[in-house]
Amino acid sequence: MAKIPAYAAQGPLTPLAPFTIERREPGPHDVVIDIAFCGICHSDLHQVRDEWGRSIFPMVPGHEIVGTVQATGSAVQRFRVGDDVGVGCFVDSCRHCEACHAGEEQFCAEGMSLTYNGYERDGKTPTQGGYSTRIVVDENYVLRLPAGLPRERAAPLLCAGITTYSPLRRHGTGPGRRVGIMGLGGLGHMAVKLAKAMGAHVTVLSHSAGKHAGARQLGADDFVHTADADTLKKHSGRFDLILDTVSAAHDYNGALDLLRRDGTLILVGVPPPSPLAPGSLIMKRRHLTGSLIGGIRETQEMLDFCAAHDVAAEVEVIPIQKVNEAYDRMERGDVHYRFVIDLESLRRTSR
Ligand code: NAP
Ligand code: ZN
Ligand code: ZN
Repeated sequence: MAKIPAYAAQGPLTPLAPFTIERREPGPHDVVIDIAFCGICHSDLHQVRDEWGRSIFPMVPGHEIVGTVQATGSAVQRFRVGDDVGVGCFVDSCRHCEACHAGEEQFCAEGMSLTYNGYERDGKTPTQGGYSTRIVVDENYVLRLPAGLPRERAAPLLCAGITTYSPLRRHGTGPGRRVGIMGLGGLGHMAVKLAKAMGAHVTVLSHSAGKHAGARQLGADDFVHTADADTLKKHSGRFDLILDTVSAAHDYNGALDLLRRDGTLILVGVPPPSPLAPGSLIMKRRHLTGSLIGGIRETQEMLDFCAAHDVAAEVEVIPIQKVNEAYDRMERGDVHYRFVIDLESLRRTSR
């Protein structure tokens, strides 16, 4: 076991603070990764504050990890020391269920091992995430970072990127399709870039009027201020697809009303429940579905797509000492569009 500096939450009401974790000695199939950058996802905040009700403390969050391979186990085939790699939302799964065989490990019948706030396959060793300087992961759950993607701008792709890429692809995003992206935060801004790169007509649906110019800069074709009921009415029945990335409770019926006949609302944001009126679906035979991150194979496909289409996150890089401030700002919606922690700041203060 190696002792590794990290930042952890000791409980839902305490700020994140310096902490030491242990990482296992690498087994034959393990890759040891020196973490360079880690994105801050709104799911980190939900889990640190125990908003989903199953948090394991102490918790070292972070599942948008990029870094460099520092060592490899004797049987590792796909990676070498010095490679740029990424780790996303899970670090293992059962490997033999139908979902794992299909490359959809996120739906593993025995439950994936989340990168943090989860357990290793032994079911009792808590996992700890990327707000730390080093992680040890089985090579089958490590992604290759394509050349040309700046590392700090690639980190958010490991969650925000795949969570939006997967449903956009699955639901046929492309030329001639009108796609609405609801909520312009970390996930939302990636969704805008990805849907544009796929060739769709993209509209940002935001409750913040001030995000209009930013949406255009990201490449959106149109902007709708969802807090304005009259404006919203004008766009009724307009979209083929809406990807809902909103992190706070909001009205799903209003979002459904914006869909055309047979249109689809995809939920990826995980706020508290809110009511659904059957008529919102029945009247135009609309579809309502959800999506959960993506499997390893599709995550690699997404990274390669981003490199080929020059897509990366817009980030504000921070030292880890500012992580609590970043959480407060994210809660207020004051982020353009993803905070990314530079782990050199932790290495420096731990020497
Ligand atoms: P984020 O950066 O904080 O963005 C969330 C956006 O939601 C905000 O930018 C804001 O957009 C909108 N919003 C916030 N408060 C609102 C309110 N009171 N009313 C209406 N809209 C509000 O968060 P994120 O990292 O993108 O994550 C978004 C959600 O996705 C979180 O719930 C997260 O847990 C979830 N998530 C799910 C998956 C999955 O696999 N399904 C994966 C990762 C994350 P506007 O100002 O533009 O309205
Ligand atoms: Zn995430
Ligand atoms: Zn499985």
